[in-house]
Amino acid sequence: MNILILGSGGRESAFAWKLSQSPKCQQLFIAPGNAGTGQYGTNLNIGVNDFAGIKQAVLAHNINLVLVGPEEPLVRGVHDFFLADAELKNIPVIGPQQQGAQLEGSKDFSKQFMARHNIPAAKSETFTRDTVQEGLAYLPTIGLPIVLKADGLAAGKGVLICLTLQEAELELVDMLTNAKFGDASSKVVVEQFLQGIELSVFVLTDGNNYKILPSAKDYKRIGEGDTGLNTGGMGSVSPVPFADAAFLNKVEQRIIIPTIEGLKQEGIPYKGFIFIGLMNCDGDPYMIEYNCRMGDPETESVLPRIESDFVELLLGVAEGNLNEKELVLSGKVAATVVMVAGGYPGEYLKDKVITGMENVRESHVFHAGTGLNDMDEVKTTGGRVLAITSLQDNLFDALQQATADASRIYYDGMYFRKDIGFDLL
Ligand code: AMP
Repeated sequence: MNILILGSGGRESAFAWKLSQSPKCQQLFIAPGNAGTGQYGTNLNIGVNDFAGIKQAVLAHNINLVLVGPEEPLVRGVHDFFLADAELKNIPVIGPQQQGAQLEGSKDFSKQFMARHNIPAAKSETFTRDTVQEGLAYLPTIGLPIVLKADGLAAGKGVLICLTLQEAELELVDMLTNAKFGDASSKVVVEQFLQGIELSVFVLTDGNNYKILPSAKDYKRIGEGDTGLNTGGMGSVSPVPFADAAFLNKVEQRIIIPTIEGLKQEGIPYKGFIFIGLMNCDGDPYMIEYNCRMGDPETESVLPRIESDFVELLLGVAEGNLNEKELVLSGKVAATVVMVAGGYPGEYLKDKVITGMENVRESHVFHAGTGLNDMDEVKTTGGRVLAITSLQDNLFDALQQATADASRIYYDGMYFRKDIGFDLL
């Protein structure tokens, strides 16, 4: 079959690498892809939100299945667009329709969903411009720090953790009345702070059956020792050592089953990934957030640990028989180190030639923000440039190899964290 992946990051590189290994995958296309995805398939110069362009490509290349990487096209309704089009409606899309994507697209929707299905989560209330005063009155009732979340998509920047009441008051007003995050903050969820260690659990579902994919932990801060500004993600490891069978059983019973059952009860169709962002609070899992797609850079650690044919699993989602498919996991440990551009996550350097990738010994190099220059050399184009993943027998070796291999690559302004995962050893 012919498969189209939408997206251009490290996550989509890992998907392309994995899908291209399947005997079921005849031709693979990635739109728009990056300089690395071209190794596994054909890049198409189409944006992920260009639905008309995607339709043209799907028909021109006889695509039989579409895998959506990022959240934005899902929240904008790419799956609904396929279902509403006579020529596309029978082509399966992996990723929920707009309604299901609201689990990520609206924090207020997702908090209400959690409450309706008794899924453990931080206490919260939602406020709008018309209820700012009520919001200000609510702030002192939930203790410090106070978490403020813009309701809509805000490119990962819409969550503020306020250490003082005064800061929370200023930010709440700024978000609601001054549209700090544009339309995304026309509603704000005010939430109690959860103390614990974060991790992510990934579920693949056909809307009825589900498979629990490997868990992962990601590292969001730019600086070593988890300091400095937030980024899209500086590294990840899978599995998470503290997410043992007993903990994962609680996650399944208290969160995954109620989520799948809740979607069914509410008549919300869902075919795709559910990213469950969790806090481990003294051995009990609490929901932080849902995402309607896989994480990046968690995908780069999770997929190398899946031994089964991933196309088969996606077909199970499309055909509604995921329960008949086998999910075989590797006992090995994966560590991913993300290499970023100088200056990231602020204004960052671009168009720097990347050298040394041929020297990598024990890792996969997943491209993210890369492109080709006029001389066909690989250059940097984005903030997160490469994701280096090593799969080894134990966490220490995986971390050491991924870090050593990252050091074998060079471009002006290159930076990566050398402490990813070492807190878990
Ligand atoms: P979200 O976009 O909801 O994942 O929030 C972004 C990040 O903010 C999370 O990955 C957490 O590190 C942090 N965060 C969000 N909600 C809470 C909370 N209730 N308590 C503690 N940290 C939180």
